Amino acid sequence: MATPLCPSCGAKVKANATECKKCGHDLTAPPPRKLPTWSILLLVVGVIVFVVGLVIYSQGVTIIGLVLVGVGGWTWRFRVRRDRALGR
Ligand SMILES: [Zn+2]
Repeated sequence: MATPLCPSCGAKVKANATECKKCGHDLTAPPPRKLPTWSILLLVVGVIVFVVGLVIYSQGVTIIGLVLVGVGGWTWRFRVRRDRALGR
């Protein structure tokens, strides 16, 4: 089994340790890895709306779909960047 690393500072910690000796990070709480559900929802709904717009030949509906996909992709990228900034 690999030695667990502190999710905060990357120092090696004991498997049964409750906090990091180096930085005091609480190891009992699992690192929050929330999936950007809002972004996924926007992307999925956007693609569906876009396809529906193509099927019914409605330019307005396809544009709404593209906007939803764009917003979804933008929020997704924003979330990833913020997580990286926090060192996650
Ligand atoms: Zn640490």
